[in-house]
Amino acid sequence: MLSVTNLTKSYGEVTAVDDVSLHVNDGEFFSIVGPSGSGKSTLLRCVGGLERPQEGTITLGGEEVSEREAYDRDTSTVFQNLALFPHMTVNENIAYGMKRRGMEPESRAERIERYLDLVDLAGYGERSTDQLSGGEQQRVALARSLVVRPALLLLDEPLASLDQQLRVQLQNELYELQRELTQTAIYVTHDQNVALSISDRVAVMNEGRIEQIGDPQELYENPATEFVARFIGDSSQFEGTVTEVEDGVVRFALSESGAEVEGRSMGPISTGATVCGVVKLEDFDLERPQSHPNQLEGTIRRVSYRGQTTKLLLDITDGGLVEVLTADLDQYTVGDEVAVGWAPQDCSTYGVDA
Ligand code: ADP
Repeated sequence: MLSVTNLTKSYGEVTAVDDVSLHVNDGEFFSIVGPSGSGKSTLLRCVGGLERPQEGTITLGGEEVSEREAYDRDTSTVFQNLALFPHMTVNENIAYGMKRRGMEPESRAERIERYLDLVDLAGYGERSTDQLSGGEQQRVALARSLVVRPALLLLDEPLASLDQQLRVQLQNELYELQRELTQTAIYVTHDQNVALSISDRVAVMNEGRIEQIGDPQELYENPATEFVARFIGDSSQFEGTVTEVEDGVVRFALSESGAEVEGRSMGPISTGATVCGVVKLEDFDLERPQSHPNQLEGTIRRVSYRGQTTKLLLDITDGGLVEVLTADLDQYTVGDEVAVGWAPQDCSTYGVDA
């Protein structure tokens, strides 16, 4: 449906998007995640024709659109800062894109009603957009983009300005809508939780490049790089020097304590190399630490209540700090001495460039 090939976009010295290639399938909900400044918006803007890349090609529905203006591409973008027309009614705002695409007034009215209904704003058509709440305005912006039935819907952090509760609600509505309409969409966000919960596939960006593309489970369970392992989910990291590698298991001595632990090798790693092991916080076992080859002992320095789980910060006896999660809400207090264990396959281990 969409193919981006070897796309590069620089602003002076800054390479915002660096040789990126990706493919989005028909009907897919594809997210791009990464920290602020990693190039997500620039990539999206290049796809929508709002920026001109220096290199690379973009094809949409089999046609190359790299040189086409934004209005001449079958895409529609929803931005974080809405860009609704303040002095127009909801109906007029939604009609705007359809007029530009030359649709007849009769079919416009019918479509507007249908899409207002879809975004749960039936009866709001005659209101002025400045009489709407933030969430309602965001729904109008979404309806305005969806109503033209673009081949590709582009969403640039559309929910970032909303409060948490509303964001989760709209995010679920967006998910339902996208599926119901089988609208191909690319969603840009710095929030990996949103991306993982509503996407078919996710691309993780870092410094202008794509580190990995995969479905949410793949990214969570088999992160291709240390960056992805650290970015997706909450984790603790262990750095050390490799003493042995065998059958995909890396044994390494921790830099801070000298204790030896084992991890799952995620790439070519040899003895003597510096490595980083990444363990998701929920994979630590405080109940039966002795049942795992990897064990450390320490003192609880901080207890953070998080609703269904509690996060503990452990001061490891021989050096280093480790965060762990437990579902046991009442058992732990600052100052307690505990042991923590984890399985080697839950410790994704990567070579670290010296
Ligand atoms: P993200 O969306 O991941 O936060 P952006 O695509 O906005 O990242 O930015 C990527 C990099 O490109 C950043 O270093 C940013 O400062 C730079 N950049 C983005 N837009 C411009 C611009 N119009 N002029 C100069 N630099 C820009």
